[in-house]
Amino acid sequence: MDKPKVYFMDARSESPDTSLINKTVTVFEAAGFDKMINKGDVVAIKMHCGELGSSAYIRPAYVRAIADKIKELGGRPFACDTTTQTYGTWGSRVTELDLVETAERNGFSSATLGCPFLSADGYVGTSDYRVDIPEGYLLKEAYIAQAIAAADKTIVLTHFKGHGMGVIGGALKNLGIGCQSKRGKFNVHMGRHPEYGIGDSTVFHPENFKGKEADPDWELLENCCPLGLFKVTDNDELLWEREKCINCLGCGSWMNPRGIFEPNLANFDATDIAIGDAALGVIKAVGRENIGFINVAVDVSPKCDCAGFSDLPLVPHLGVFASKDPVAIDQACVNAAMNAPGTPGSLAEEMGIDAPGERKFDLGGGAIEGLSEQTTINTAVVNGLGSREHELVHAQPLGRDRFAFPPDPRPTKVRFAKMFEKFQPFPFDKHNGRGYNRLDKVDIDAVKGDDINVDPHSHQDAAYHGDGGWHPGDDDPSYLPKENGSSPNGKASKKDSKAKKE
Ligand code: SF4
Repeated sequence: MDKPKVYFMDARSESPDTSLINKTVTVFEAAGFDKMINKGDVVAIKMHCGELGSSAYIRPAYVRAIADKIKELGGRPFACDTTTQTYGTWGSRVTELDLVETAERNGFSSATLGCPFLSADGYVGTSDYRVDIPEGYLLKEAYIAQAIAAADKTIVLTHFKGHGMGVIGGALKNLGIGCQSKRGKFNVHMGRHPEYGIGDSTVFHPENFKGKEADPDWELLENCCPLGLFKVTDNDELLWEREKCINCLGCGSWMNPRGIFEPNLANFDATDIAIGDAALGVIKAVGRENIGFINVAVDVSPKCDCAGFSDLPLVPHLGVFASKDPVAIDQACVNAAMNAPGTPGSLAEEMGIDAPGERKFDLGGGAIEGLSEQTTINTAVVNGLGSREHELVHAQPLGRDRFAFPPDPRPTKVRFAKMFEKFQPFPFDKHNGRGYNRLDKVDIDAVKGDDINVDPHSHQDAAYHGDGGWHPGDDDPSYLPKENGSSPNGKASKKDSKAKKE
């Protein structure tokens, strides 16, 4: 069988058609996604709008470029993300209201995208479509966000980076978490699983709770759980109804720092496996022929865009990738990151994984030691979703004519000659037609080196001459004189007048 192709363009850019945004459109076409979209198709663009405070998330201009391309093909695009689990107290995408407000704050709106932005799993996160996945390694069903399951076609547009739990945040994670409803996310995170769920597998240390008096935030320990599973008794005892835990991860940020919970590697590993299975669920819901994947591997931050902050990238920009195979595209990105040097000063350097050839995400992405950047990818091979083996194809630029500013593609003279007759922006009527008050010649080399080889106070012809004032016009009487003692318009300068008085 032929290996799946992954179309790739690197991150160098020296012309409009090699801009990273236009390269994203180029790999979209190279991978044949334009042939997948028919006139009238409703097309979901699944993206991650970023948690409030993160800054490495995919820029709206990439989404806009893909939305414009879909419209050009006759499709009807919408951009979407899904509501999250509660995760912690400060989640900014937990309901549809949170999600849309955060998306707008991060720059995603109809005005910027050229199409609506939707919460794909509804207000709470229960709008979904259940699919059986008998091939799953761990999961046997998945709950896919309704808007994605209902669309005719889907483009999974992913910012490739690390992820604390998923280790890598690529196409598979965008499917296996990002395309799952909130209900589906509880499934993937092992809510109430008898072996891997937090309630069943976490080592609980209630003895590390210091009591109400010593812990002024103790009420948060009761209030961090949406199911109210924690109770502090009058005797300062912390109780937990662990058998009812649904793995929303709302309590970890309070329990872990106090030593009340021990980090649970089995839960993390099982979730990474489940991501690979849930990703297969999305393919079963939408149809393999109806979905394409683009990974924008720039700003490759260690943690996901859901973290609420973005650290220095682990590696320099890698480029843009497109494929019909979500496993192949993620493996191609992992390989590219492995072969790249770590960014100086980044977590990669701090962890000692900055040399080319070092795996970057096991330690750089994962929140706890012992996780693997291959777990989700390997699971998605085992369950038949895709192939790690792939052929990397270098896509070629499409030429700058393809990427003219779309609203007014007329040549410059046609656009501006008549407008400039009415509203001439260049002041031809000033300074003998030269327009502006500038010196004819200056010592350029004097300001090009590490040292400044001219004394600003002695440079009397300069508009700014070091006296704390700015003297931009020859009609300004304070403009300093030329050698004949008069300003360019013949008026005496302030300095000239002062000298005469003396
Ligand atoms: S105990 Fe379970 S359900 Fe409650 S906050 Fe923690 S993870 Fe969520």
